[in-house]
Amino acid sequence: MKRIFLLFLVLLVGFAGLLVVRTLAFSSRQPAVTLVAPEPFDSLALAGRLAGALKFATISNQDSNAFDAQVFAGFQRYLFDSFPKVHATLAREVVNGYGLLYTWTGSEAALAPIVLLAHQDVVPIEPGTEQKWTEPPFGGVIANGFVWGRGALDDKGSLVGILEAVEHLVAAGVTPRRTVYLAFGFDEEVGGRRGATRIAALLASRHVQPEFVIDEGGVLATGLLPGVSGPVALVGIAEKGYLTAELTAKAAGGHSSMPPGETAVGILAAGIVRLEQHELPRAIRGPTAEMFDHIGPQLPFGQRLVVANRWLFSGLLASRFGRTPYGNAMLRTTTAPTVFQAGVKENVLPSSARALVNFRILPGDSVAGVLAHVRDVVHDARITVNPYQTAVAEPSPVTSVDGEPFQLLARTIRQTIPGVVVTPWLVVAGTDSRHYTTLTPNVLRFVGATIGNDDLRRIHGTDERIGVGDYVNVVRVYVQLLRNAAM
Ligand SMILES: [Zn+2]
Repeated sequence: MKRIFLLFLVLLVGFAGLLVVRTLAFSSRQPAVTLVAPEPFDSLALAGRLAGALKFATISNQDSNAFDAQVFAGFQRYLFDSFPKVHATLAREVVNGYGLLYTWTGSEAALAPIVLLAHQDVVPIEPGTEQKWTEPPFGGVIANGFVWGRGALDDKGSLVGILEAVEHLVAAGVTPRRTVYLAFGFDEEVGGRRGATRIAALLASRHVQPEFVIDEGGVLATGLLPGVSGPVALVGIAEKGYLTAELTAKAAGGHSSMPPGETAVGILAAGIVRLEQHELPRAIRGPTAEMFDHIGPQLPFGQRLVVANRWLFSGLLASRFGRTPYGNAMLRTTTAPTVFQAGVKENVLPSSARALVNFRILPGDSVAGVLAHVRDVVHDARITVNPYQTAVAEPSPVTSVDGEPFQLLARTIRQTIPGVVVTPWLVVAGTDSRHYTTLTPNVLRFVGATIGNDDLRRIHGTDERIGVGDYVNVVRVYVQLLRNAAM
């Protein structure tokens, strides 16, 4: 008995030792660099130029007939007037009416070019919420240390920030060794088919193979990750796929005074409930696994031990991390019923009912796999399942974190933002950059804007704004990125 106890004790100590050794060996993936001296910017002048850009209501509507060409033309004239050195030095092409492609030709033709993306369009103001804004959404107001307005974060802060960085470098007399493209679509918020798709196709027709492409999608997050006190730079290395499934249930119609045992509404509702109760499983893999590998070493010892020993704790980690809707979305293909339609009159049984269920597909899952899952879980011959006629997209390829482009961006961020932790990230929404994934394996998604917990609701919501100092950081990151990558 005593020998068994002793053996158990030895195993226990050995096991604990293994966990600790793995934790201690879980070393930092942060590149060691020193901070560069911040570029001396006139932050109020920068903020003023961004605020001016927010006065143009360059709204993307689902109905493309509502496109306001005059507003976009006015916005582009404003860019022309505000950034004279950019427009005197870079070639500017208009693609498909309102897409903008700038070319800053490099001195060494053998070097692969880089492409900086942003989009000109913004989402509309939700009707009825106009009065809830602290400052008018298209007023271009600077107040209390913020630039207020629709587009401050998504995505004019990025677009104007890129132009500001190039204007600054041209003024400093710098010329790039690599060619730098700036590509600004005008319909990202409705899929990018008229803007980014056409610019990417133009570059492809010219056999442009970029070293990397950088777009929006990741930010500087504060307070989003428990256990990490400083800012965390979330660099999107992939984005989720997109599928909407259309489910149609058929049943006998007729008078509601004599209903059958099952109705079209009930059959379809039961199918939807089964889908919600049997989601695709959570998994820590791909970009999310890379994120844990980068953030884990920066955590306090207890949390680090859990992340370092995922062979044992992955279930615990996934259930803890997946408690928030955002964390859950990073761990699985999500299931979101968005439309449910049936019936036209209160006393008539509908002979069919229809629902739309939106899926955001985790890298590693696929459109075909999700459709098979839906048919399998619904498991009712009276319900037909088809892909709905909107943009269907497989998950994007995953950019390597060991490749030079990711490492160069990580060094850039660490040189520019004090105390930052850089991590790969999975973008759970879509960006224009997915139209460029056939041009290069290195698609990065990051803008150096600071986002706290309070700010997530502002993107596409009320009171979108960016701190003046945070906007200066956006420009500083672009300046340093251009210096590191192209000079
Ligand atoms: Zn955007």
